[in-house]
Amino acid sequence: MRVLDRLEQLAAIGDRIGYSPEEDAAHELAAGWFREAGLEVEVDDAGNLLGRRPGDGRAVWTGSHLDTVPSGGRYDGALGVVAGLEAVERLGLPGLGVVVFRDEERGCAGSRARCDSRALPDAFLELHVEQGPRLLNADAPLGVVTAIVGYSRQTVTVTGRAGHAGTTPMAGRDDALCTAAERVLAIRDAAQRVPEAVATVGTLTVEPGGVNVIPGAVSFTVDVRAPDRARLDELLAAIGLQPGLGTEPAVMGPDVVAAARAAVEELGLPVVELPSGAGHDAGILASAGVPSGMLFVRSQNGGVSHNPDELSSPEDIALAVDALTGALRRLAS
Ligand SMILES: [Zn+2]
Repeated sequence: MRVLDRLEQLAAIGDRIGYSPEEDAAHELAAGWFREAGLEVEVDDAGNLLGRRPGDGRAVWTGSHLDTVPSGGRYDGALGVVAGLEAVERLGLPGLGVVVFRDEERGCAGSRARCDSRALPDAFLELHVEQGPRLLNADAPLGVVTAIVGYSRQTVTVTGRAGHAGTTPMAGRDDALCTAAERVLAIRDAAQRVPEAVATVGTLTVEPGGVNVIPGAVSFTVDVRAPDRARLDELLAAIGLQPGLGTEPAVMGPDVVAAARAAVEELGLPVVELPSGAGHDAGILASAGVPSGMLFVRSQNGGVSHNPDELSSPEDIALAVDALTGALRRLAS
């Protein structure tokens, strides 16, 4: 399959950090494929690559990114570009475009710059690997993304009373780490009560940090995510953090979601709707007012991503190209 062969060619370049010579090489390779497919190729000031079908038509773009994290997988970003080109080539409709945004992994620099320029499409649909296990668990090859989660990251500090680990009786201690441990478990329980929300304590600093000293202070970070502001604030309040802070969730455009759903249904596949727990270029475009959506392809190997074990099956990829084609056809008309 041509899609797999192209993924192989991109993987051969190796790690492709944003704006590195390797990312440049990947963009060059893609630009060649775009020209072969008869697309008009344009590179904007931020280095984003756009291939467009000539002629007048609704400007509907698909695509993703070709940069990677260090030691990343071969599907993250790249699949959305090569499958997007495949779909655009199949349809041959004027106005359709494939975009490759620069430097997504370190904070979506390319799509943010593009949004600042205001030269944007009428709709955007990004195909991407799920990077999680939900489609695997649902036994579904494809998923329709409803929102890209917003998040808030805050630091909590718990204070107690430091003291001698040998001479201070257990009764009457004020051990900051024991209090923090209770807080961490309470955060987990609170997140389980808010649908589609997650909360993670990922770092913890114990002071003064001696093996024979009762901890006097502990600070830890909390990363809270939810598909909409109401649930994000509900969870933040439930765990005693300040609501209203962080990155806003990006809700996908209803028309784009409907087109993706119809295309998946047309293939006789179950329609699984899910929020994206990771950030994507589609979220940046959605926040800039472009009706946007995402199609997820099932991730194998337990859903692992940002890892060389990242995998999606050739069968699922073939279905994804079909679904993307069907959805773009609906959006273009
Ligand atoms: Zn990605």
